[in-house]
Amino acid sequence: MQPSDLPPAASLAEQFPPEWEKLLGDWGEPRYRALQIFRWIHQRGVQNPAQMTDLPKRLRDKLTDAGLAAPAHVAEVQASADGTKKLLVELADGKQIETVLIPRGSVAAEDIFASDSEEPRDEYTESADFRSDTLEVTQCISSQVGCAMGCAFCASGIAGLKRQMNAAEIVSQVLLGRATLEGSSRLAGIVFMGMGEPLHNYNAVARAIRLISHPDGLGMSLRRMTVSTSGLVPEMDRLARDFGGQVQLAVSVHAADTDTRSKLMPVNKKYPLSEVIAAIRRYPVPRRRRLTIEYTLVRGMNDNEQSARSLARILRGLRAKVNLIPMNPVQGTGLAAPDDTVVDRFQQILRDEGLDTFLRRRRGDDIAAACGQLALHGEARKVRALPLV
Ligand code: SF4
Repeated sequence: MQPSDLPPAASLAEQFPPEWEKLLGDWGEPRYRALQIFRWIHQRGVQNPAQMTDLPKRLRDKLTDAGLAAPAHVAEVQASADGTKKLLVELADGKQIETVLIPRGSVAAEDIFASDSEEPRDEYTESADFRSDTLEVTQCISSQVGCAMGCAFCASGIAGLKRQMNAAEIVSQVLLGRATLEGSSRLAGIVFMGMGEPLHNYNAVARAIRLISHPDGLGMSLRRMTVSTSGLVPEMDRLARDFGGQVQLAVSVHAADTDTRSKLMPVNKKYPLSEVIAAIRRYPVPRRRRLTIEYTLVRGMNDNEQSARSLARILRGLRAKVNLIPMNPVQGTGLAAPDDTVVDRFQQILRDEGLDTFLRRRRGDDIAAACGQLALHGEARKVRALPLV
């Protein structure tokens, strides 16, 4: 899918250079300004036309009048002792989302980087300005305000979907996050694992991926981006078609039988486990790469030995690693994480069955920085116990 095939931009800040060229042509402005404006926004992170100092004042005024403005700003930054940083980001309409910056070597990074050692070097690590003393940071970003999927163990799901984010807002988080990096830190990867189900906002997420990877923008390789989904089958296939498998996929499985999965994830009623597994098997994973299977462990529901053996069976032959995530406590759900001995036994069974399995420890609990289970400031009071479906 080329930018020209994408639906119309929802905001000036998410236009590609050819879209800027068309608009500038309509305004009677030289088309070469298109790349200048795009670079200001996506390379330098400047969205306020008044600060685009190499543009004539006349054009800056036109851009302001047309509504080009920063779609978001940082309302609060919280830093964890291990270097993880959580940004509370406020959108133009006052809605808030969260994004988390996770340095390599931090507790939170363990699961994300667990398999990197076997992955090939890419444009970034081969680039002239890459230094071995660079501290790589992965950013976990949100794609929706809230989430409609209603997973029983997730704060975002319990609060429900407030609204979709547009591509400008999604990219803005990345630009704001990059601006907080210090010293030799470098943004090296993005995971769509924050608030929201990215594939439920497919068009905006696909546009954001294209913008983030644009050579005149952040220029991040598609292979350094991971989309995490609860298993929306048609959109998994669409992602495969549009990006040829270059964007990494993480799929939340969370149960090895369809009844348990429906209790934890209502989306399973629409796309049952067997269809999700079939879509995972169709995903064109590049050579020497692997998919990620996410499995949140919930006490008494999906944590027994039989579940571990069934999970190993349905994943057999897949090029995948498994991330086990003892559920984070979410007030009002009535659900809890298993004891450590149960978690260890579950992991051991999967390993004995030949699956690379990693344990995602509670990450940065002091700032509640769990991707996909981001704490909702101001929403906590509204969290209520949901009946299991
Ligand atoms: S776990 Fe992910 S898909 Fe499920 S409700 Fe939470 S944010 Fe949505």
